[in-house]
Amino acid sequence: MALVTKLPSSSSQSPLTHLKNPHFSTPKPSNSIHFTRTSCSASPFTEKHSIERYQRDKWVFKNELDQYPSQNHSNFSTRDYEIALQLPELKNLLKVLREKREKEGNGDGEIGNVFLVGTGPGDPDLLTLKALKVIQNADLLLYDRLVSNDVLDLVGPAARLLYVGKTAGYHSRTQEEIHELLLSFAEVGANVVRLKGGDPLVFGRGGEEMDFLQQKGIQVKVIPGITAASGIAAELGVPLTHRGVANSVRFLTGHSRKGGADPLFVAENAADPDSTLVVYMGLSTLPALVSKLIQHGLPPDTPAAAVERGTTPQQRIALAELKDLPDKISSEQFVSPTLIFIGKVVALSPLWPQSCTSESSCLIPQV
Ligand code: SAH
Repeated sequence: MALVTKLPSSSSQSPLTHLKNPHFSTPKPSNSIHFTRTSCSASPFTEKHSIERYQRDKWVFKNELDQYPSQNHSNFSTRDYEIALQLPELKNLLKVLREKREKEGNGDGEIGNVFLVGTGPGDPDLLTLKALKVIQNADLLLYDRLVSNDVLDLVGPAARLLYVGKTAGYHSRTQEEIHELLLSFAEVGANVVRLKGGDPLVFGRGGEEMDFLQQKGIQVKVIPGITAASGIAAELGVPLTHRGVANSVRFLTGHSRKGGADPLFVAENAADPDSTLVVYMGLSTLPALVSKLIQHGLPPDTPAAAVERGTTPQQRIALAELKDLPDKISSEQFVSPTLIFIGKVVALSPLWPQSCTSESSCLIPQV
């Protein structure tokens, strides 16, 4: 049994409202696959070489954009080239800020603030009010790939944006460079905001950035964001814990520390039918994780879901039993970012094909 569907997402709609959406056909309790794909549209996230990104960061790329006004931006292709291109502008900005500070007689004045801000999984309505205030007062914002374009649209017109995102196999900047940038701009008194998708302290390397800056005497203020697990569980209508069904929830990464393909020493402890597993960055290692979980005793028919670009208008959902999920997401060519949910709670979703058609498969406990 498996189902894939693409649902328009909006924070003001409940998952039940989605069921009434004309894009969604009510699932049937059968082995058939339902797949709805609307016309292909741009990613809501900041793709590493998108024209939107260069336009948004035009204060660093302006010469290049003038030079290549056409759609062909393949020139922006190598990491070295990007950094070489950006460094002079960054240095200029630092100089301007330093001079401004001296002119204001504030040469030894207070150092700036660094805010580590979580932007949630994509839907800008999931930002906290605190995050919105900080974003609108920022001088410089460094942002990742998973900060959605809708969130970036909220940045004030005078602020400078700089993409420092990473994708598998491609790092536009090293972690050390990001540390140095945060530090040098904070030192000249700028209000520096480090934007991260979801919550900055959940698989976001926020801890490392905090640690580095604190060691250099810079105070870091963390503004939490809605982590993908919470934001997307809400879209699915899945409670991450549920009395009598799941008494704990575990967030796992599908990546091993060294970037290898076997992160799965955790599978032994994670194969708990009374717990919900949420796997971040788990697309490439999912087949191995699933077979290990089954090997360690998790029933092959455990309900599971994969959600691509959750909470954005491009959201796609695949629902399947655990044993079928890897094939499902591979045949539907799910790409990053995709989040995976494994556990009995998934069948509590109103989208789960059998949830309301057969009493025996409704997992809501008898009270
Ligand atoms: N700090 C983030 C997680 C960063 S790790 C957070 O708290 O959510 C990146 C992984 O998060 C992605 O590979 C994917 O597994 C998950 N993720 C983040 N946003 C997502 C989204 N909108 N849709 C699906 N998965 C998402």
